[in-house]
Amino acid sequence: MTQPIFLVGARGCGKTTVGVALAQALDRGFVDTDNYLLTRTNMSVADIVAQEGWDGFRARETQALKSVTAPDVVVATGGGMVLAEGNRQFMREQGVVIYLRAPAQILADRLEAFPEEGQRPTLTGKPITDEIVEVLAAREALYRQAAHHVIDASHAPDAVVDAVLAALHMARA
Ligand code: ADP
Ligand code: MG
Repeated sequence: MTQPIFLVGARGCGKTTVGVALAQALDRGFVDTDNYLLTRTNMSVADIVAQEGWDGFRARETQALKSVTAPDVVVATGGGMVLAEGNRQFMREQGVVIYLRAPAQILADRLEAFPEEGQRPTLTGKPITDEIVEVLAAREALYRQAAHHVIDASHAPDAVVDAVLAALHMARA
């Protein structure tokens, strides 16, 4: 299989961590749409949102998705990539989409342990756990709609990689 593999899911579900490990396991390239945006624009997500609003950020995110999509690549997407119907459709058509699913409490614990200060403004200005519960409730259906496979991402990264490989009927390179 040479189609790109897209990882979707909420902040902290492990798209970047699992994506790097998955790419290594398959001897594929890895690309992160958030990182791509940062290096391309020289601005943080917070900067882009401050200057161009969330709409501006979302438009750039869609462009980033298209730019990084190529054969044999593992793509970690931003948590909000699935919000646009066009992005969901593009990923489903171009590749295999994996939803890394984890309960809100686990996401909150991970983000509290590694707050990535200043990297991304909170969407609602509320405490992190409340926000995660709200954002997950709003997006769960979209992650599922986008995904060909839903994977339990609450285990250790290596176990999550193995679960993705099993779902794709792929073996470690
Ligand atoms: P995302 O890219 O989906 O926002 P990250 O890969 O950046 O998530 O992970 C967020 C934080 O959670 C990081 O500190 C990472 O080390 C940790 N983490 C990610 N996946 C796991 C996992 N499966 N088990 C434990 N910690 C994890
Ligand atoms: Mg990430």
